[in-house]
Amino acid sequence: MKKDYDKFINDFQTKLDKYFEEYSEYIYCHENCSGCCETGEYPFSQLEMAYLMKGFLKLPQDIKDIIKNNIENLKKQKSDFNGERFEYTCPFLIEKKCSVYQNRGITCRVHGLAYLRKNNTVNLPHCANIGLNFSTVFKDGIFSIEPIKENLNIDEVLKNFKDEMGEIRPLINWFL
Ligand code: SF4
Repeated sequence: MKKDYDKFINDFQTKLDKYFEEYSEYIYCHENCSGCCETGEYPFSQLEMAYLMKGFLKLPQDIKDIIKNNIENLKKQKSDFNGERFEYTCPFLIEKKCSVYQNRGITCRVHGLAYLRKNNTVNLPHCANIGLNFSTVFKDGIFSIEPIKENLNIDEVLKNFKDEMGEIRPLINWFL
């Protein structure tokens, strides 16, 4: 992994912290909420996955075992799944906390924000539909404030790491 990914991700996080601050009146994230990690696909590039696993390797053995068990269970569930989009609780979520928080991916870091995508549509957090983030400014399909005017999708965020980024897959698919 390129050495400066650590620096890049720290700088990116600083930028995101500013966005969270700027939009704080619309954000209801709080310590015991892990909704963003309970239902999703969690796309990760190969580069981010390698970074995540660096965090995993530093964990105590008992936590590693829980995660491995979660992954094995998910693999079984996925093999029995016949639908189009397999959504699941992230195997790294333990007691409503991310066990690899410092090494989490870009999708994880932008959870909860509203930003403009490539096609000029707004990417909203799921919880906008259940009375949480941005729900006060999202009614009948209309978003009534200016979202972050930066595309925070992985491929755009990692455009300077194009050669190292690799494929993007749902997190569980990296273990199949
Ligand atoms: S890696 Fe951590 S932050 Fe990302 S989805 Fe999993 S539990 Fe949530």
